[in-house]
Amino acid sequence: MYTLCDKAKALTPYDWNMGEYRVRLDANESFLLPTDADREKMARAAADTALNRYPDPLAREVCASFAKSYGISPELVTAGNGSDELISILLSAFLQKGEKVMTLSWDFSMYRFYTTITENPCITLEKDDDLRIPVQQVIDTIQREDIRLLIFSNPCNPTSVGLTREDVRRILNETQALVVLDEAYMDFWDQSLLPEVEKYDQLVILRTCSKALGMAALRLGFAVANPRLTGILRAAKSPYNVNAVTQAMAKVVLDNPVYKDVYRELLLQSRELLLQGCKDLERDGLIEKAYDSCTNFVFLRVRQAPKLYDLLADRGILVRCFGQEHLRITAGTQAEDEEVVASMRFLLQHIEEL
Ligand SMILES: *Cc1c(COP(=O)(O)O)cnc(C)c1O
Repeated sequence: MYTLCDKAKALTPYDWNMGEYRVRLDANESFLLPTDADREKMARAAADTALNRYPDPLAREVCASFAKSYGISPELVTAGNGSDELISILLSAFLQKGEKVMTLSWDFSMYRFYTTITENPCITLEKDDDLRIPVQQVIDTIQREDIRLLIFSNPCNPTSVGLTREDVRRILNETQALVVLDEAYMDFWDQSLLPEVEKYDQLVILRTCSKALGMAALRLGFAVANPRLTGILRAAKSPYNVNAVTQAMAKVVLDNPVYKDVYRELLLQSRELLLQGCKDLERDGLIEKAYDSCTNFVFLRVRQAPKLYDLLADRGILVRCFGQEHLRITAGTQAEDEEVVASMRFLLQHIEEL
């Protein structure tokens, strides 16, 4: 019989909850669809796509739209099948056998996952009690351990905590490692390093269309880096990684400023409503902490988090549970925000009897 290697044997599928829930606040998606006019344009763009032809390997039009919208040069942009794919390409192309990666904890779980696929050793540094990144310790560890690649999200998923531009610059100025700065949620905060990406020879910034721009279904992300690194990334990716329908449809959204202006505001308003509701729970002693958020979700420290998670799920509300004492909740519609807060209030008041 064919023997599986240990690496393959250890793989487990990404735990995606396939259940039916009335309220899905588990994946940090936008609760807004593109405007009716744009959905019509997108449908036409999809219908006009030459389905018999391979897509543009460099996804030039959609990269140009992204670059224009974010005020950078298209020469610095590489498109990926979600930023997830770009993470995988970066880790496989920029590391050789045995070279070390550094991640932080908590952080996005896919980083560690891809290092198990590439079989690179990975050192994970714990954040401090306020879930802040210990910048000096990061710098010292990179030097001491000869780390070749550091990857982290800013603002962070799942903690919602952000690291200031100044602190990120310190890491870049004081270390040699390739820094993969995942700005998946930077549309919700104002500390992006995009405008200065070319100043660094070892910086790759990741952005995604899946969160603030509300196109998780299309699978589109971007890596932004200086031309030297961009050349390597483009050479390392599979040629037709972003399909033609996605390229055509996403361009419509990227070309319309309403998403970055109006939609972003609506998502932030929802986050504020949810966060205030959670801060009230903290004030009333029902949860231990609602962290200040730089994203479209909130992160809570709460006793019996797995039990609360299950009780919410029983009521048709899906959130995410981290360990024994943290929950992450995506900002939804006003009604969804109000319902999840009211449900938590009720459930936490009665949790010993339930
Ligand atoms: C959601 C998320 C992504 C994934 O984005 P895709 O473009 O949908 O693959 C990447 N990084 C972080 C931190 C995320 O939360």
